[in-house]
Amino acid sequence: MSLTLYVNRKDWLAHLVKMEHRFPDYLPVIKGNGYGFGNESLADAAKTVGKTRIAVGTVEEARELEDTHSFDQMIILTPVLSALDYSDLESNRVFTVGSQAHLQHLLTQFEHLIRQQENVWAKSDGPIPIRILVKCQSSMKRYGFSPLEWEKTRGWLDEHNRTGRFRFEVQGFSIHFPKEGIGQAEKDREIEEWLKVIQKDGAQVFYVSHLSSDHYLQLRNRHSDVQFVMRLGTDLWLHDKSFFEIRSRVLDIKPIRKGERFGYKQRPARQSGYLVYVSGGTANGVGLEAPAIVKGLRGWFKATAYWLFGLINRHLSPFQYKGKRLWFAEPPHMQTSVLFFSSKDSLPAVGEEVSIHMRMTTASFDRYVETDSKPAETTGSEVETSATKEQDDVKEKPVGALLPS
Ligand SMILES: *Cc1c(COP(=O)(O)O)cnc(C)c1O
Repeated sequence: MSLTLYVNRKDWLAHLVKMEHRFPDYLPVIKGNGYGFGNESLADAAKTVGKTRIAVGTVEEARELEDTHSFDQMIILTPVLSALDYSDLESNRVFTVGSQAHLQHLLTQFEHLIRQQENVWAKSDGPIPIRILVKCQSSMKRYGFSPLEWEKTRGWLDEHNRTGRFRFEVQGFSIHFPKEGIGQAEKDREIEEWLKVIQKDGAQVFYVSHLSSDHYLQLRNRHSDVQFVMRLGTDLWLHDKSFFEIRSRVLDIKPIRKGERFGYKQRPARQSGYLVYVSGGTANGVGLEAPAIVKGLRGWFKATAYWLFGLINRHLSPFQYKGKRLWFAEPPHMQTSVLFFSSKDSLPAVGEEVSIHMRMTTASFDRYVETDSKPAETTGSEVETSATKEQDDVKEKPVGALLPS
């Protein structure tokens, strides 16, 4: 049995179209686990709403997607420092470079490939293009040139383009902002500083991220000589959670008496009740948690409470039944999780579905089902597809109310 993602594809696609008003010309970001939907499914969606350019995370993702989808441009967001192949040279791939070392790697790799096929490439007239996107450093302090480093590198690039076998073609500049902690004024300051540098090269495309719609529209109005393009990932695919839902199925229910041993760990049950086996386990990302930043007294209290529960082997699960979060009876297995219900709890039936709230960027599903109305109401008219979300915390009850009875 399987963990299922129900997607209301029609409304989800309509949302992607609507985002065009808020972020004209936006660039969809398709990477990792495809935000839970799978990269192919996101590429299908991007095509359906008429996108001709996309961004992917890695060169491997670009190669894989290009087997099934063709786009005018695939921007690779992570700098490449691994081996390249001929397909990387002949395609519409654009390589992000954030340092001279990144540029040098592209050059070394491509020179090596050409040398191996000298007879083929000797016929090409003129220099062979390598398309690049220049990554500008922001307050993120992730990879990227400082304005000064870029000025130097540009000199090197111009020199190379005059004499070398390859011609580096700058397809645009790119800046990535933090999600929180800095305001619009600071982002503007960083953008303006970079604009002074890059406008020396004439009209340019400037890729940005993590801006509000108002801010983005303002920038586009203020600088009509620069083409701003917003990269959208989470805010595009996962912003509206009403279009999808994850559900698991109850596989079996076993009564258990206090003190009776069970499961992989053969630990005695703390109290009498039921073991409820549901689909979905570690292979689906159940139980996976990304480190979180704890803020404020409430957050600190919550984190401490969960940590204390952990010390006595009690772990809250992401599964829910009748609006209540359920407890793991023991750590999740590969494709099945075991939940504990006390004798007083109302029990689901075998075959019934329970909902589960997972972080979509670490989830993977066994089954994707298209729904045409709200997922909770679907039964008969489901269309199963072969393919597959960042979800924030479920609205949580105060920790006290979560205590096992
Ligand atoms: C992943 C990524 C994005 C999209 O990020 P979200 O937070 O998912 O919107 C944008 N820009 C870059 C450079 C990225 O790596």
